[in-house]
Formats: sequence, structure tokens, C-alpha cells
Amino acid sequence: MDKISHFDYLIVGGGITGAGVFRDLVLHNKKTLLIDKKDFMSQTSAQSSKMLHGGIRYLEHLEFSLVKEALNEKNTWKDLAPSFTRELEFIIPIYKNSPHSFWKLYAGVKLYDSLSMFRNKPSGKLSKSELLKRMPQLNSKGLIGAITYHDVIIDDKNFGKSIIESVSNKKQGATLENTEILKVSESSPFIITLKNEKEFTISANEIIFCTGPFTDKVMKQLEFKWKPKILPSKGSHLILDKSKISCPYPVVIQEENRIIFLIPHDDFVLLGTTELKLSPGENFFDLSISEDEKKYLIKNFKHYFPSLEIENAIIGQTAGVRPLVIKEGISENQTPGAASRQHLIFHPRNDCSILIGGKYTTFRKMAADVVSQSFAKRQEPYYPHLSLKPIHKSKS
Ligand SMILES: Cc1cc2nc3c(=O)[nH]c(=O)nc-3n(C[C@H](O)[C@H](O)[C@H](O)COP(=O)(O)OP(=O)(O)OC[C@H]3O[C@@H](n4cnc5c(N)ncnc54)[C@H](O)[C@@H]3O)c2cc1C
Repeated sequence: MDKISHFDYLIVGGGITGAGVFRDLVLHNKKTLLIDKKDFMSQTSAQSSKMLHGGIRYLEHLEFSLVKEALNEKNTWKDLAPSFTRELEFIIPIYKNSPHSFWKLYAGVKLYDSLSMFRNKPSGKLSKSELLKRMPQLNSKGLIGAITYHDVIIDDKNFGKSIIESVSNKKQGATLENTEILKVSESSPFIITLKNEKEFTISANEIIFCTGPFTDKVMKQLEFKWKPKILPSKGSHLILDKSKISCPYPVVIQEENRIIFLIPHDDFVLLGTTELKLSPGENFFDLSISEDEKKYLIKNFKHYFPSLEIENAIIGQTAGVRPLVIKEGISENQTPGAASRQHLIFHPRNDCSILIGGKYTTFRKMAADVVSQSFAKRQEPYYPHLSLKPIHKSKS
């Protein structure tokens, strides 16, 4: 019989959450295998709004500690990965009928700056004429002025790949794409059946599932004892031609109940997102924007930029499922917007963890929480400074 490969940890799911956990474990010199059923960074983590941010709208839900934590992560990555991150001034135009008043939003952005411990570039305000000078195509009817604040934009897919690659050449960090987990034995050391072109077996002392919105489905497939926890919420974007949509600054479009971003990147402009509750039975892989979502984004864009021909500027789309976790004690009927973005750790079996929720921005902190918890159980030291190593773009 062939000798099977043994690992300290198996990480299932190579989105940004799994990438962060993998990096932290390898930096702690743990022999770790990272697998994904598809390519790494191909699902939710490549379909985000591509911002590292505190989440200014969570201030409305008084989630101050969440915003503070995310702002710290945003500003940490701004320093650690300057070739991937770009800090931009976001503009919130305010109209007479906007859902939030000028002064309420001004207070909000000042609070946002203070929660960043003043590491954000300072927020501010613009008069109507200053705003129109900067963005002449903006609808001027009923316009009062604008509030500004700063957040970071990032190439979500390539940054995540670099997180994985930064440690995957080391002796301790093995990776397998297009590899699905099929079967797990009852207790540790786990005997695990994996499948790519063929089925094979490995063993691992611990398993950490970082399968994001797919988690309930994976638990069901593996026949783990597990109460479904995901409140699947689809979010889509339109990718716009930069030469047709002039957008020098990111703009925050205030819709009645939520906000939509229009963000200039190097090669395109991103408009999104939508928020659509999915049923748990639906397929979550490789999604596309629906016609209704497209109409919703176009309609809201046109309120702000009536003279721009968005229909002729659409060059692509993205769609993904937010890994929102149903709040304890609340039914599945809660709206996606009201669900917390806090990450959570569950243990469906001994030596088996599930890390879900959170945001792209907070992946380093999420990884630190699950890895330090695992080490504490084993009475091993956890070194938080290891994940503060810079990440550089590869030369190729
Ligand atoms: C529209 C949208 C916009 C967003 N914008 C932002 C933003 O601007 N900033 C921000 O901070 N956050 C944002 N988020 C949230 C953020 O994108 C997610 O929190 C994050 O990407 C989740 O990462 P993940 O690794 O947990 O999940 P995923 O990236 O989905 O990774 C899970 C992986 O598990 C794999 N998998 C599934 N089943 C199996 C199996 N059986 N075996 C092996 N592997 C399996 C999948 O292939 C997938 O690669 C946004 C989310 C959405 C949907």
C-alpha cells in the first residue's frame, strides 16, 4: 500500500479566507495543504467590490467595533502591500431628497476617521459648485453638495493569489486546485478522501473549512452534524468601459435603503452592487448577473449621471454570494442587509473548525483568530507579528 501524505492542517477552500489561514499556518511552520474544488480565488473573493474598507454603512447599525477592526486591517494592508492598494477619495453626493442628510453624513465620516485612529486620509465636504467642477456630468438638479472620505481599492483576485504564492513555495505549504473533498473520517488524525483526476487519500491532524457561502452544502455532502447557517445573498456588478464612463473619483450612489458604488480602477469602472436573497438549494458557483439586477444598477446610475450612456459602456459583469451568517436567535427571514458581517468560528467535530462570515478586508484577523484558537488548544505559542510580513507583486 502507498504511504499516504500527512499534514498538520488541511485547509478546504482557497478564497481569501483560506488563503489567509494557509499563509498564517505556513508562516508558523505548520505543514499545511490548501485545496479548492475550483481554481484558487475564483469564486466570491474575485467578485467583490474590490475595496478594503471599514464599511461606512455599518455605522448606521452601530457596529463600531467591526468598523474599527476593518479600518485597522485596511490601513495595515495599505502599508504592507502598497503595490496592490490604492487609497482614493470617495464622494457621496447629497441631493435634497437623499435618504441621509448632509450633516448626518458629515458626522458619520468624522466618526469613520476617528475609528481609524486617524490613519485614514481626512474626510471633508464639497459645495455644489466645487463638486460640479470635479464631476460636471453629475445630475445638478436638487444637488446640495458632497461629503468625502477615503478608502482603499484592490485587485481582489491577484492580491489573494499573491497571499497564497507568498508561502506556497516553502517546504511546508502545499496547494491543490480543482480538488474536491469527498470524505472525512470521524476523528483526528483524519483520513480524508480527495478527488481531482482521480480519488486519493491524505491524513491531517486538523481541518479548517474556509468554504464561505458554500459551507452548508459542503457540510451536507460530508454528512457532518450541522445546522445550516448561511443566509445566501447575491451581489452583482457591471464592468464599464473607462473610455466611455468618465469617473475620476469613486462615487457613492445613495439608493433608498442601501448604497451602490461607482469605482474607477486602472482598466475599467465597477458599478455595484445588488443584493438578492438566494434560496439555499440554488447553485452558488460561477454566477452571472440577472437582467433585473442589471436594470436596477442602470436605473440608479442614471439618477446620478443622466447624460452618460451606460448601456453602450458595459463590457462585463461579476456576481458572487456573500457568506452572511444567520444571527443566532433570528430566523432565516432576516434581510441580508441586516445580517452582521462579523466572522464566526464553529467546531462541528473535535479538531475541525469552520471559519465563515467576515469580509475580504478582515481576512488576516479572521485567520489569526482561528489559528491562535487552534494553537491555544494545543498549548502552542501564536506569533501575531508573522502575518505582518509585506506582500509584493511578483516580477512576471
Ligand atoms: C458582491 C460582493 C461584494 C463584496 N465586496 C466586498 C468589498 O468590497 N470588500 C470586502 O471586504 N468584502 C466584500 N465582500 C465580501 C467578501 O467578498 C467575502 O467575505 C469573501 O470574499 C469571502 O471569502 P471566502 O474565502 O470565505 O469565500 P470564497 O471566496 O467563496 O471561497 C470559498 C472557496 O471554497 C471552495 N469550495 C466550495 N466547495 C468546496 C469543496 N467541496 N471542496 C473544496 N473547495 C470548495 C470554492 O471553490 C471557493 O473558492 C463582497 C461580497 C460580495 C458577494
